[in-house]
Amino acid sequence: MAKVIVVGAGPGGMFAAYLLGKGGMEVTLVEMGEGINERMAKIKAGGNTAGMSYISGMGGSGTFSDGKINLNPEIGGNMLEFVPKSDADALIDYVDKLFVKYGMDKKSEIHPRARELMRKAMRGGIKYIPIRQKHIGSDFLPKVVSGVVEEMEGMGVKILENTKAVDLLLSNGKSTGVVLEKGGKQEKMDADYVVLAPGRAGSRWLLDLAAKYQLPYHYGPLDIGVRVEVPDEVMEETTEINWDPKFHIYTKKHDDFVRTFCTNPSGFVITEDYGKFVSVNGHSMKNKHSNNTNFAFLVRINLTEPLENTTLYGESICRLATTIGGGKAILQRLGDLKKGKRSTWERINRSYVEPTNKNVTPGDLGMALPARIIDDIVEGLDMLAKTIPGVNEESTLLYGPEVKFKSVRLDVSKKMEVKKLQNLFTVGDGAGVSGGIVTAGVTGLIAAREILGREGKKSEV
Ligand SMILES: Cc1cc2nc3c(=O)[nH]c(=O)nc-3n(C[C@H](O)[C@H](O)[C@H](O)COP(=O)(O)OP(=O)(O)OC[C@H]3O[C@@H](n4cnc5c(N)ncnc54)[C@H](O)[C@@H]3O)c2cc1C
Repeated sequence: MAKVIVVGAGPGGMFAAYLLGKGGMEVTLVEMGEGINERMAKIKAGGNTAGMSYISGMGGSGTFSDGKINLNPEIGGNMLEFVPKSDADALIDYVDKLFVKYGMDKKSEIHPRARELMRKAMRGGIKYIPIRQKHIGSDFLPKVVSGVVEEMEGMGVKILENTKAVDLLLSNGKSTGVVLEKGGKQEKMDADYVVLAPGRAGSRWLLDLAAKYQLPYHYGPLDIGVRVEVPDEVMEETTEINWDPKFHIYTKKHDDFVRTFCTNPSGFVITEDYGKFVSVNGHSMKNKHSNNTNFAFLVRINLTEPLENTTLYGESICRLATTIGGGKAILQRLGDLKKGKRSTWERINRSYVEPTNKNVTPGDLGMALPARIIDDIVEGLDMLAKTIPGVNEESTLLYGPEVKFKSVRLDVSKKMEVKKLQNLFTVGDGAGVSGGIVTAGVTGLIAAREILGREGKKSEV
């Protein structure tokens, strides 16, 4: 029987392994992070190690994400680059059904008042994109992931936790396995096919592999900016219509693309630890609520010569921000940013929005982010305020930096196979082909389906 190694147990890797397991392949799923229970314990205990537990381990970044399930082929990446719309819809449906099987709500309609929001946005010079959406919630997601893991184990998928893939095995232009590392010891593992789904935690590793083996790749855009936090009252008219509303804005001064992303009503802002720098994110839970709504407000950056490397650029901005924040993310009131002065705990404490993340340094984002990004954020919030009044108030809290590396994408076929190297597939966020749970899962399914087809096996989707 043909063997497949899947690296990374986020949605990309898990859906690949799940479909391959269902198709009767011999599958090993390798994850460098810990199992669900260990991750949950670390996150509960907090501390320095919690940051990595958010993005690495069984379920990947998906496990402790907010679990907003966007059922649209053009949100969270663009599936239509790889498959026609009808196929994308079938693959989305497959992902949706597996989540429903493990407890997610069945219903997902576009709200009848979505048109009202569209009209309001248009009049304010911005665009609102209505989409079908569901919400699992970060406290419920681990149960969903555990359910899928259990089912996979039941069908014979071998799962290796705390095991890192450190290199590829290649022979005559074909991928033939990986080098694994556990507890300081390395061992080779052979396979007929390898699917790499390393997510954001492993995107740098993928870039190193591309450089080492001269695999063609290109840089995708970088999304960088801040996490905005306002009282629920400011956002609730909007989030009642759409839990995670997508607004697209072109700023007047720079004609840059700015968007809202990952809105969390009654949610929490968190810090992600990338080792050399920190970035922020947000989530909300089904059973634990704050009084604030947060959302990412991100500026899209494309670079051309002499530097196309958006990852390097993004990392250097984040490092500068982390240096200025003394190793922590920076928190600033919008009013202070506009006045060009740093925020202090004293000023933050007397404003009417209480931060949900206090493990931050009150400071000046103007010292940390390029002026163009600051211009886009300030102007973009003023434009958004025409649709969501109050979002650009003095007390509005900005945490930074927030960064989404959708960076390096190895040149892949429509089946996710790396060009120049047979039987090596790259899927999910780390491979630059997705930017969300469902799209990552779908890219995993596309790779798995191709492998099953080559082995003459039937695919469930
Ligand atoms: C706080 C937060 C909130 C989010 N909210 C949402 C949301 O509401 N909706 C949404 O659609 N998306 C959300 N996202 C994004 C979503 O989680 C990701 O898009 C998705 O998880 C990407 O899936 P993936 O499989 O590509 O990678 P990941 O989920 O990042 O998983 C990759 C896994 O690979 C492992 N890995 C990396 N390198 C190696 C290696 N060399 N060897 C072994 N293992 C390795 C990592 O440890 C990790 O567990 C959120 C993300 C975060 C962090």
